[in-house]
Amino acid sequence: MRPRPNILKILLIAIPLTVVAVVFSYWDDSDNRLQNIREAGVIRVLTRNAATTFYENQGTPAGFEYQLAKGFADHIGVKLKMIPVVGLEQIFYKLEQGDADFAAAGLTITEQRHKRMVFGPSYMKIKQLFIYNRRLTQTMNSIESLIGKRIGVMANSSHAELLSALQQNYPKLEWKESRDLETFDLLEQLADGQIDATVVDSNEFYANRAFYPDFRIALSAGKPVPLAWAMFRDPANEPLRQEMEVYFKTIQENGKLARLIDRYFSFSERQSFLSTHTFMLRMEDRLPEVKGMIEQVAIEYDMDWRFLAAISYQESHWEATAKSPTGVRGMMMLTRATAEELGVEDRLDPMESLRGGARYFKKLLARIPSGVEQPDRGWFALAAYNIGLGHLEDARVLTEKNGGNPDLWKDVRENLPLLRQAKWYKTTKYGFARGDEPVRYVQNIRHYYSLLTWDELNRYRIPPPKIVSDYLPEALNRSFLAF
Ligand code: GLU
Repeated sequence: MRPRPNILKILLIAIPLTVVAVVFSYWDDSDNRLQNIREAGVIRVLTRNAATTFYENQGTPAGFEYQLAKGFADHIGVKLKMIPVVGLEQIFYKLEQGDADFAAAGLTITEQRHKRMVFGPSYMKIKQLFIYNRRLTQTMNSIESLIGKRIGVMANSSHAELLSALQQNYPKLEWKESRDLETFDLLEQLADGQIDATVVDSNEFYANRAFYPDFRIALSAGKPVPLAWAMFRDPANEPLRQEMEVYFKTIQENGKLARLIDRYFSFSERQSFLSTHTFMLRMEDRLPEVKGMIEQVAIEYDMDWRFLAAISYQESHWEATAKSPTGVRGMMMLTRATAEELGVEDRLDPMESLRGGARYFKKLLARIPSGVEQPDRGWFALAAYNIGLGHLEDARVLTEKNGGNPDLWKDVRENLPLLRQAKWYKTTKYGFARGDEPVRYVQNIRHYYSLLTWDELNRYRIPPPKIVSDYLPEALNRSFLAF
């Protein structure tokens, strides 16, 4: 028998190699995305440019999804890189390619998506609304009334999935899916009459409603659905998903999530159409006259001009000679006593009035207790501007008594109106006050402020690139959900 030295040699090499490979695969952390993220020191988050997700506000990143993602990046101790894309297809494509770690883009957890994606914990539930333009079409209030209409939705969206499900029972229901459009664009198409109806998430609808006073809800489809962050379905993502659970549990328990939801989604739903409509008119006819002055004073006092503009609109509707029967006057409606205290000689001089108001606001802001963080500090200072620091402090004491957090506007806001009831105000230091007024006051200013912000964003928004499907490679042309 011939000796078989080669086998021995092979074994001598192969065995240690196998051992090394096994040890390496055991230690190899390439299958743990969370660990990779920590090592890289940065987390890459896909998002969409929308009122409810991510946008730039005077050069600073902002938006609900941005704030949540920033909190998560801080939680795991890494930097945050937001990657905005146009349309949902790009989100799923890039996740699959590993170009990002997860997507924070107002995504709905759906049955179809579960096949390719895993989701973090849901942070919010929304309704899916069919909407139409009442100026251009007859009332729609049922699925039957949508049949034969030009319905447009984003391709790969939960809305397209919803329509497919409805089509089982309503075979004549038809719609068009666009891969290169964002919610912004669909709303514009509905306003122009290029489509008759679309589907939007309720949070986006309310965030944009002020700009489209003719839009109406035809119907709300099914039960509220959960939104969550999405990752590609891969065991390597499991530690990351678990860490998201820890993070969301923390912000749920410490109230941060509720605060963010309140900050981004609460006001527009409550605001009346009429006040919004008047505001939009005044933005066209009066604001241009006073904007330069407001900007100038805002620079002097290191304020956001839109914030000062929102206050002066609430005070005087931007009328320099405004007077009220109670004796307050001018752009910022200062009382005689406040004007004296602030050194304002002529309350009807718009620059003097704006300067006085800005100085007063900053003075109050500095006196808000240090435990109150922005943006709540601003709301507290506004409430004090309206009702005085003493009553505001009383309301904070009541808030604590009633189990709320006196450093959160959303809790103090609930308790301020109690200052009207003897049962409550007799226990306080400064007594009775019309505590519901500062609540409305702050709510209005927040609303005007958001309208001014959104007006700017919409005016200067760079339109998305137009994708011409015919020229795209076949792989890109596939619908994600069709795999
Ligand atoms: N929630 C929607 C989805 O998951 C996207 C947001 C929107 O279209 O407004 O498809």
